[in-house]
Amino acid sequence: MAAEILDGKVMSERLRAEIAERVTALKEKGITPGLAVILVGNDPASEIYVRNKGKGCKEVGMYSRTIRLPEETTQEELNSEIEKLNADSAIHGVLVQLPLPKHLDEQEALAKILPEKDVDGFHLINAGHMLTGTEGVIACTPRGALYMIKSTGIDLDGKEAVVIGRSNIVGKPMAMLLLRENCTVTLCHSRTKNLAEHTRRADILVAAVGKAGFVTADMVKDGAVVIDVGINRVDGKVCGDVDFENVKKKAGWITPVPGGVGRMTITMLLDNTVDAAERTVKP
Ligand code: NDP
Repeated sequence: MAAEILDGKVMSERLRAEIAERVTALKEKGITPGLAVILVGNDPASEIYVRNKGKGCKEVGMYSRTIRLPEETTQEELNSEIEKLNADSAIHGVLVQLPLPKHLDEQEALAKILPEKDVDGFHLINAGHMLTGTEGVIACTPRGALYMIKSTGIDLDGKEAVVIGRSNIVGKPMAMLLLRENCTVTLCHSRTKNLAEHTRRADILVAAVGKAGFVTADMVKDGAVVIDVGINRVDGKVCGDVDFENVKKKAGWITPVPGGVGRMTITMLLDNTVDAAERTVKP
């Protein structure tokens, strides 16, 4: 039987309607949630992501501001923009679009963002909260992916979860979130030996590699939940890390690309920003 499609557009529509209601309630208290995105240089993929974030804000009634800085921006100039946004009461979420040009230090920039305005959840303080399971901002992509996994209704307790990819922004936090849900988690990467032996055991398989068609049907357990985080461009078309057409014949649930995790990532970003704005409301 073909897998059930976990539709990020449908889930996002429902969630964004709830977010829009929270925005309206905040506006009644005189607060318009505001998201600022800093974009350095002209990376075409980043341009698209930033545009979609702006569109998402508009859709739910939030304020958004894009700060475009030239490719040759210095670290001091970037840090100073972040500090201005930290101090700006109209801005509740600050996001530095990654990747930055090579001469800039991403970690230094991320560390400059106030943890309470770090709606991407990449600040070390928020990464620490994620690790310890204490309250903080959860990174948008793994948060969206977990929401999709939970939407299947399966009991995650004791399930085998395999994450391919160990980046700080996707793979590692994804593994942590699944661990918090009591899955038995295996985190795979480019040095993993016999990758398919791991993936074939997975009740939940998350691919965050960045290689089109990397996960093939023979790597997937029958009935598994397959979450495709990858965003790749092949002949001008966007596709994920999973061989969707063949894997969907074997999996129990699968996310499409586009219209899957990417959509949910932006929805979680909006949610994190509204959370940040709500935290500024005096009791
Ligand atoms: P990175 O390049 O930072 O990480 C890729 C990971 O894949 C690394 O850990 C790498 O291992 C691992 N890897 C590479 N080759 C292999 C292999 N042959 N076998 C096993 N593991 C391998 O990417 P990101 O985590 O930033 O992003 C991953 C994908 O997700 C990209 O396509 C990106 O565009 C997409 N993405 C999508 C988002 C969304 O909203 N849907 C948000 C963010 C990213 P090693 O560490 O050993 O090098």
